[in-house]
Amino acid sequence: MTAPRAPRPTVVLVYQRTSLRWVFDSALRAGIDIVLVPRPDESVSPDRLPPAVVDLLPLDVEGDPVKALALLRERYESTPFDGITTLYDPAVPFVADVAEALGLPGLGSADARAAQDKRIMRRRLAEAGLNVPGFIVLDDPGAWDGDSGLTFPVVVKPANGFSSLGVTKADSAEQLGAVIESVWEVCRTKLSQATGLIVEEYLDGPELAVESFADRGEVTVLSIGYKGEPTGPYFEEGVYRAPAPLPQDVRDAVVREVAAAHSALGVTDGPAHTELRLRGGVRPYLLELGARVGGSGVSHYIAEHVTGADLAADALRVAAGLAPVGVNDSVSVGESVGVGGSASGSPARLARATGAAANYIVPCGGSGRITAIHGLDELAEDPRVDHIVQMLHPGDVVRPYPDFTGYPAFVLSHHTSTRDAEEFHRSLESRIRIDYAPTGAAQ
Ligand code: ADP
Repeated sequence: MTAPRAPRPTVVLVYQRTSLRWVFDSALRAGIDIVLVPRPDESVSPDRLPPAVVDLLPLDVEGDPVKALALLRERYESTPFDGITTLYDPAVPFVADVAEALGLPGLGSADARAAQDKRIMRRRLAEAGLNVPGFIVLDDPGAWDGDSGLTFPVVVKPANGFSSLGVTKADSAEQLGAVIESVWEVCRTKLSQATGLIVEEYLDGPELAVESFADRGEVTVLSIGYKGEPTGPYFEEGVYRAPAPLPQDVRDAVVREVAAAHSALGVTDGPAHTELRLRGGVRPYLLELGARVGGSGVSHYIAEHVTGADLAADALRVAAGLAPVGVNDSVSVGESVGVGGSASGSPARLARATGAAANYIVPCGGSGRITAIHGLDELAEDPRVDHIVQMLHPGDVVRPYPDFTGYPAFVLSHHTSTRDAEEFHRSLESRIRIDYAPTGAAQ
């Protein structure tokens, strides 16, 4: 027997960084109480809880998921909650397991794994007839037999990676063995569960990020943003500006491809953050679809300023079993034999863009011990800048990429046009500067 439910809907939110505070503001607007499972690397004071947080529940979700599930079950039986969710990609399968075990709304464990494990995702997308590059999977370090059969260049990545961790391009068959070895090393040292690798053909062209929301199978694309045109060999994140200026047929092909991916991966309810590359500038190929609000909440900020949607609030509503509010103004993007999409592109809706928004990820620009970060304080005065989320500070040590993938700061800004966002980002390249002392020199 479980105890009576709390009067307000309550959602357990796993590993949300409190510095991305607007996610908690969304909970407040939605009238949803949050039980926060704090990130292990963040100390949250019970006396100064973020908005909407009614309780803290420390759990070691990655280190001991069995115990974490048992503690959640105990909590549920004594003080029931209505749902559980996360914006932290590696925790998506755990959250789905908990929801399934407790009979709460959720994706289901199998679909959550498909959206998180790049091997399953690639297979499902290929089976559904979506645009997929040639790929092979390597389930263990002994599995590489020296012949990929793929067209070079290729990209090697951990099957369960995130934040571009270890993702490396190999230009030739001669390089591939060494690259595979180094990505296995990243798996061993940086990922809590190293499950395998995927090697796939390199997709050139602009990179896009898409924020979308599904409600009982109907997908609405909230925004399509531009993410630069990274060429490797490593793929640090850089800029994100939305809406991306795209011809209508290409834009529609992207919408249909994302809707088809929702359906192939079983993401019929709730948010998704999808990354794609536009091969030849026209043909969308999915890199991955994450069944969550992206970028720890950056995606919410982008969607809010491009369309007025409250993405995080709707994600929490769906987690609690409530109906999402959605967007007021959207157009239907029907089936078509458009230029770029795959054969299976699905109809969907596209929210009307009414503004522009951007995220500038401050590049490390070097390595060593940080002695000073210049330019961030002055930026706070710029009326276009809404949030500066600083993750690295003087005293922190930055190791050379690809060994380290933490980012110094995010600068989130809103604009009247994507062109204004682009000019603003160009100015940040010289306005923000990080000074380093070589490690060991400045203790
Ligand atoms: P993660 O989940 O670790 O972020 P992704 O699959 O999203 O891994 O890859 C990270 C980045 O690496 C992408 O955003 C993209 O820039 C680049 N990348 C990954 N796979 C490919 C590919 N097949 N072709 C071109 N670039 C790729």
